[in-house]
Amino acid sequence: MPGQVIGSIEEFVPGEGVYIDERGRLRAAVPGVVNIDMKSRRVVVKPLGGKPRVPRRNDVVRGIVYGAPREDIALIKVIADDRMRRYSGEYTAVLHVSQSSDTRVESIYDVVRIGDYIRGTVISDLAPLVLSIRRPSDGVVLAFCSNCGAPLYRVSASSNTLVCLSCGNKETRKVSPIYIYVSRS
Ligand SMILES: [Zn+2]
Repeated sequence: MPGQVIGSIEEFVPGEGVYIDERGRLRAAVPGVVNIDMKSRRVVVKPLGGKPRVPRRNDVVRGIVYGAPREDIALIKVIADDRMRRYSGEYTAVLHVSQSSDTRVESIYDVVRIGDYIRGTVISDLAPLVLSIRRPSDGVVLAFCSNCGAPLYRVSASSNTLVCLSCGNKETRKVSPIYIYVSRS
């Protein structure tokens, strides 16, 4: 069943139909049959019936940043494709800091933070998915203030600076041109 715990990232390599939760446990993303290759320790869930819609290389996807286990990596829960059509099940994607910008970025926190909604491009063939937000059209589409939780506004149409209109806090991200709120002041 979707959500069922299959194992942990210490035990197995997640394949298609499997996602990693915030505590590092592998869970079934789709209803189906669990299949473990003992040689590669790769675990997949083969869906029952019908052809599932899965994110593939070059797909532009929407997701939510739900974890940043290291300073150079963010974990993304993929929620839909760029036209907001949902995939079959839940998919976890990894975003490495080297795929976050064309300029050198020290920390993943300079480009995305937990709770951000992002648009990214799939650059891997197999699960776990690897995302890039380097393209000019990709990046954060909605972010919230780290201080007070209010939505952040882009200070201008091309800026990577976001401002909180409630508390005045300023933060940076790699911002997508489709970012939802732009400040008028
Ligand atoms: Zn604020």
